[in-house]
Amino acid sequence: MTRILIVECKQEVSTFNPVLGRYDDFVIHRGEALIAYHRTVRNEVGGALSVFDQHPEITIVPAISARAITSGGTLAAADWARLRSDILNAIHDAATDTNTPIHAAYFALHGAMAAENEDDPEGDLLQEARRLLGPRTPIVASFDLHGILTERILRNADAICCFHTYPHVDFYGTGQRAARLLLCILGGAKPVTAKVFIPALVRGDELITATGAIRHAVNAAKSLEADGVLSAGLFWGNPFTDVPDLATYSFVVTDGDPALAEREALHIAELFWREHERMYVPLTPLDEAVRIAHEQLPRGGTTILVDAADATSSGASGDSNAILRKLIETHYAGRALIPIVDPPAARAAFDAGIGATITTHVGGAMDPGRFTPVEVTGRVHLMSEGEFRSESFDELWHSGPTAVLLAGNITLVITSRAVSLYDRSLFYAHGQDPQRFDLVVVKSPHCQPHMFKDWAARYVDVDAPGATSANLKRLGHTRCPRPIWPLDEHVTWERRVTIFRRSVA
Ligand SMILES: [Zn+2]
Repeated sequence: MTRILIVECKQEVSTFNPVLGRYDDFVIHRGEALIAYHRTVRNEVGGALSVFDQHPEITIVPAISARAITSGGTLAAADWARLRSDILNAIHDAATDTNTPIHAAYFALHGAMAAENEDDPEGDLLQEARRLLGPRTPIVASFDLHGILTERILRNADAICCFHTYPHVDFYGTGQRAARLLLCILGGAKPVTAKVFIPALVRGDELITATGAIRHAVNAAKSLEADGVLSAGLFWGNPFTDVPDLATYSFVVTDGDPALAEREALHIAELFWREHERMYVPLTPLDEAVRIAHEQLPRGGTTILVDAADATSSGASGDSNAILRKLIETHYAGRALIPIVDPPAARAAFDAGIGATITTHVGGAMDPGRFTPVEVTGRVHLMSEGEFRSESFDELWHSGPTAVLLAGNITLVITSRAVSLYDRSLFYAHGQDPQRFDLVVVKSPHCQPHMFKDWAARYVDVDAPGATSANLKRLGHTRCPRPIWPLDEHVTWERRVTIFRRSVA
């Protein structure tokens, strides 16, 4: 019997979001509830289970799963301490049960967490898990490619793997690859990992792995895996998690062949570096973007204003009213659909009730340093408890008490908590079909093309303020390594490799 421990901890942080993340932002599942949940969604743990299920000798030991409801600000110190101790206690309990020894562990992580008192929560968890599980227990961890690949992660995991797609559609497949990697190690493989540091923070359409310039590097990693290398990939990190290791990294894991790992990790890095100067977003100033919307109105069709500076899935607060304000100021007459996080405004709608007309402030409820509230008057059209399944992955999402407010020609979907906006889940759950509007604000850098881009009359990446602005120079990074592109001029890349190998006597 082989007993495999499963742990999940996923959150992505923008350190430029002033709202601290809290313990309550996480949905926690323990034991069998973890398995029951993951059998209903197609993400990493589900993918890993699908592989382990093929092996009758494997018994799954589900420890704990902590998944953030959505990305957000830096975790508050006390809240991280509580979450950390929940996770480590669950691992400790599993590891110290002498009747049921743990033979291996799979960690489904994100990689772009940060807490007030910990720059590398994932590395910390893996280090403590290693201490609890002992030096000989194989540990494999999977990551989002927006994670930050620290040395502490690689010193404590035997091997890692990461997503190969952006927008991400390979959660399940990544879990399957992680599971196979773990089985290889249990079967005797001796992983050795090469990591290459690349001084770049990137954003934009060229990162779309199916079509963008990034595909050369990502495809090289994928073909290595197809050729039998244990694991390979590219982490380009979340440029909004301003921590000391924030950068781009390539990595290759081979079975006991450091020279091969080194050569191929450098090759992936080189394919990336060759193209990196294309990997930014040409942004349209806010005034110009709104002018385009006015210009399009008599011609028909929908103008999509992409406000990725307030992308909740990247860690922004979701309460930007920058575009809303500009539409009101310029007397935009089209039907506009705008999502916004504003707990007091949602409460005001609930207090008034369906059909009531209210005057309330919206915007700046979370990030008052960036956004000044704007007053709107509207009719409360719909209220919901904010529990719905996501369009993309059928996951259960929680926007808290949510109201649809019809403020003249502007339809506001006002939530109490941030949810991801990389698809149309929030709109659909609240009776709003984006295609029926003249203008839609999309607070996500990229959605799958059929969701908005394929049918939009105009599609404009707006340069608005926000904690996840693609205008990276505007954010004021203070902690990531320097010099780094595009924050600094004349950045060069040194072909330097670090090798990690777990040597157990
Ligand atoms: Zn990601």
